[in-house]
Amino acid sequence: MTASPSEPETPETPETPETYDLAVVGAGSAGLSGAVTASELGLSVALLDTSTQTGGQFYRHPAPALGAVRPEALHHDWSAFSDLRRRLAGSGVAHLAGHHVWSTVREGDGTWSVHAVTGADGTEERPVRIRARALLLATGAYERQLPFPGWTLPGVVGAGGAQAMLKSGLVLPGRRIVVAGSGPLLLAVASSLAAAGARVPAVVEAAGYLRYARSPRALVTNPGKAAEALLHGSGLLRHRVRLRLRSAVTEVHGTDRVEAVTVTRLDADWRPVPGTGRRIACDALAVGHGLVPQIELATTAGCATRRLPDGTLGLALDDLQETSEPGLWAAGETGGVGGAELARTEGELAARAITARILGRRAGASRIAELRRRRDRMRAFADVMSAAHAPGPGWQDWLTDDTDVCRCEEVDAGRVREAVAELGARDARTVKLLTRAGMGWCQGRMCGTAVACLAARGGTAEPPAERRPFAVPVRLSTLAALDEAPHPDAS
Ligand SMILES: Cc1cc2nc3c(=O)[nH]c(=O)nc-3n(C[C@H](O)[C@H](O)[C@H](O)COP(=O)(O)OP(=O)(O)OC[C@H]3O[C@@H](n4cnc5c(N)ncnc54)[C@H](O)[C@@H]3O)c2cc1C
Repeated sequence: MTASPSEPETPETPETPETYDLAVVGAGSAGLSGAVTASELGLSVALLDTSTQTGGQFYRHPAPALGAVRPEALHHDWSAFSDLRRRLAGSGVAHLAGHHVWSTVREGDGTWSVHAVTGADGTEERPVRIRARALLLATGAYERQLPFPGWTLPGVVGAGGAQAMLKSGLVLPGRRIVVAGSGPLLLAVASSLAAAGARVPAVVEAAGYLRYARSPRALVTNPGKAAEALLHGSGLLRHRVRLRLRSAVTEVHGTDRVEAVTVTRLDADWRPVPGTGRRIACDALAVGHGLVPQIELATTAGCATRRLPDGTLGLALDDLQETSEPGLWAAGETGGVGGAELARTEGELAARAITARILGRRAGASRIAELRRRRDRMRAFADVMSAAHAPGPGWQDWLTDDTDVCRCEEVDAGRVREAVAELGARDARTVKLLTRAGMGWCQGRMCGTAVACLAARGGTAEPPAERRPFAVPVRLSTLAALDEAPHPDAS
C-alpha cells in the first residue's frame, strides 16, 4: 500500500480490499482519530490527505529533512498526536498521503467513490479512485480574511499562515510582527512567534472578551479553555506583548513591503472611531478573522448546512456525526470551529457510529455516551467563541474604493460597490458574474466573506454557498481519464 514517504512508521498493508469499509478524507485531529478508531474496531480503512504528513493544521510539524530536534516544542498537547500517530502505525489503515480529493460521489449501489489526484502541483498528476461503504469527511477549515487598505503588500500573511510557516518551515514572516484580526487563534500565534524570537509589538483583537462572560456555564464546564488562554496570556506577558482589544489594523503602510500599520479603535459594530488611529512600525503583519469550515466536498454531495454564530456555514450533523446524506459522516471543523480536542472526540464518535452501521453491532455504548457528553460540552463553548468573534458590519468602513477585495482577479471595493449600488447585485454570486470577484484561483475562499457582506449592504450577509463540483483544481485530462482511474494499488 502507498504510504507517506515522510512517515515510514505507516506500515505496508499486505492486502487491499476492492472496496474499503470506510474512506476518511483529512488526516488532521478528527480524521486520524476516526481512522484509527474504526480500524481498531475491525473496519478496513483508507485515509487520504493532501499533505505528505499527518496532523492537519494543529499538529503541523517540520519535514524530517529540516532535522528539527524537538518539533513538539511548538505545540501543546503533542502527546495526543503522538498517541494517534503510534496507533496509526500499528493499524491496518491505508494512509494515502499526497492525495488531493476533488470529488466524492455516491454510486448506484450505495457505495462512495472518492476521486483524488496525486502530485497536483503541476507535475506527474495522477488520478486515483477509492471506493468505500462509508465516508468520513474531516477536511478542517481555512482562514477568513477581511480586506483593508494595504493588505496585499508583501509581508502581510494570514495569522494561521504565520503559524504554519513556523511549525512546518521553522521560519518567521518577519522580525517585528503585529498580529491582528479576531479569534483565539491570535493569542496562540502571537505567543508562538514571540517564543520563536520575533518581536510582537501588539496583538490587535477586533472583538472584546466580555461576550464570553455572558455564557458562564460554557466557561465553567470547559476549564481547559481557560487554562489554554492563561498559558498564551502568560506567554504574551513574558514577552511584553500588548493586547489591544476592540481595535483593528485599518491600513498597512509600505512601498515594496510592510513598514508599519495603523491600528484604530472600533465601536461595538467594528466601525473605526475617528481620530484614534496609531501607527506601529513593523516588517510583517499576521492577520486573520476566524476560520471557515471547509465543506465543499460535502455540500456538493448534497449535505445540509447550518448557519454558525459567526455567520459562516458548517455541516448540519445528527447526534452521531452523520450528515443529512446517509452514509456520509463528518467530524472536526467541518461542523463548526472548535479546536483539536473537539475534533478528536468527534472523529472517534463518528468512527464508532460507522462501525455500528457497517458491522451491525454496538461499538461501545458507554464510550459513545461519554463522547457525546464531551462533544456537546465543547460544542457549546465553540458556539460562544464563534458568537464572541463574529465580525461586526462596520468593518466595511475600513475599505477605500481602491482597496482590492478579490486579489486573484484584482477587483477593488469600488467595483463591487458599483455592482451593488448601480447594477442591482444583491448576493455574492451576482457580484461575481458582474465583476469576476471570486472567479480566480482561490475560487472565492479569500474574498467570499467580504463580497457577501458588501452585497448585503449592511444587512445580514448570506454566507457564500460552498457548492463546487471540484474541491481542488483538476486537469481536463484527469477528467477525460476518469473511467480508467485506477485503484491506488493497481499498477
Ligand atoms: C491555518 C490554520 C492554523 C491553525 N492554527 C492553530 C493553532 O495554532 N492553534 C490552535 O489551537 N488551533 C489552530 N487551528 C485550528 C485547529 O487546526 C483545528 O482546531 C484542528 O486542527 C481541527 O482538526 P480537524 O481535523 O478538523 O482539521 P485539520 O487539522 O485542519 O485537518 C484537516 C485535514 O484535511 C486535509 N484536507 C482538506 N481538504 C482536503 C482535500 N480536498 N483532499 C485531501 N485532504 C484534504 C488537510 O490537508 C488537513 O490535513 C488552525 C486552523 C487553521 C485553518
